[in-house]
Amino acid sequence: MTTANRTYLDYNATAPLRPEARVVMLAAIDSGIGNASSVHAHGRAARAVIDQAREQVGQLVGSKATEVVFTSGATEAANWAVSAPWSIIYSANIEHPAVLLPIKRSTARHVVLPVDANGVIDVVAAATLFSENAKSGGNAAGDRQLLVVQMANNETGVLQPVRQLVVLARELGITVLTDAVQAIGKQLVDFTGLGVDMMMVSAHKFGGPPGVGALVVRDGVDLPVLIAGGGQERNRRGGTENVPGIAGFGAAAEAADRDLASFLELAKLRDRAEEFVSATTPDAVVIAKDARRLANTSCLAVPGRRGETSVIKFDLAGVSLSAGSACSSGKTAKSETLDAMGLDEKLATSALRVSLGWATTLEDIAAFEQAWASIMGERGEVQSVA
Ligand code: PLP
Repeated sequence: MTTANRTYLDYNATAPLRPEARVVMLAAIDSGIGNASSVHAHGRAARAVIDQAREQVGQLVGSKATEVVFTSGATEAANWAVSAPWSIIYSANIEHPAVLLPIKRSTARHVVLPVDANGVIDVVAAATLFSENAKSGGNAAGDRQLLVVQMANNETGVLQPVRQLVVLARELGITVLTDAVQAIGKQLVDFTGLGVDMMMVSAHKFGGPPGVGALVVRDGVDLPVLIAGGGQERNRRGGTENVPGIAGFGAAAEAADRDLASFLELAKLRDRAEEFVSATTPDAVVIAKDARRLANTSCLAVPGRRGETSVIKFDLAGVSLSAGSACSSGKTAKSETLDAMGLDEKLATSALRVSLGWATTLEDIAAFEQAWASIMGERGEVQSVA
């Protein structure tokens, strides 16, 4: 199946590979470089590729290169960070399943942080929960607590008050893991400046290849070995490194860093699409419109139109976008985020996510608008308008 001449507006699911990443990946495959653990010239060439990528990723996220530990992606990074013997883990229910499911499987007590109608964590309520647990001896010496907070939501693009939460957590000795997957390459991310302890990164969300990511770990944070093996990643994650993938990750990081200002300009295209939607479909709702959110994401709902049905109609019209969370292939399950926000069921089941990225053009938005006008101009489905 060819995807040429189609409109891709699903960057929060995955972004197309950037040309800069493709070039270095092909070079890494074709050049016959060796195993990065070998001392000979072939091995040293592989090591140099990895070292450079580590610098590039560190530069993008504002950390030291030595704090970047390569993994197979953010899901692996989250599972690793959560696997330490925490006594309490704080998180809201708007977190991605890559974080929430490991938390639910862990032996730690899960303290759920409340969110408002936009899905933003209530900082005052969080402060109360942190100190209540501190008072009850929750974080006595030797007791380890973790706060997990995403920077930006994959479904709505809504940004969390990470800095405020970090200040509160640090006062009480709570370790902080931030899921920066949807924020990286879309806004400035500063690991050191924010004062977080760990950060999840995923290459494919900003134009690197899938299957590679990182956990950025501040020096001094005590984590168990993730994969015991040949001592790679300074004995934290054994296994021969995925050199082409890591090379592509690094090159995409450098390109995303360079393009940050133009990424923010995408808000103009996103706003244009939202204005069109509101003008042509008066009952359409732009979810969390007034919240602080990413420049590229729009979560749209039209009561009475099932999201899955709309996605199929857009697909037939040549436009790829998604319904609900849709982070795993073919997923059409109810959105945990919209549920946690307390969104009306009729709106939640009709939610569509439009997400723009580094290659999105005005023509893509025009194609979306044309498809929207024809799809939403049709009569709604009989069963859902009742
Ligand atoms: N966190 C968020 C917010 C995501 O959107 C995703 C996407 O799938 C992940 C984590 C998991 O990332 P990865 O695909 O690298 O495992």
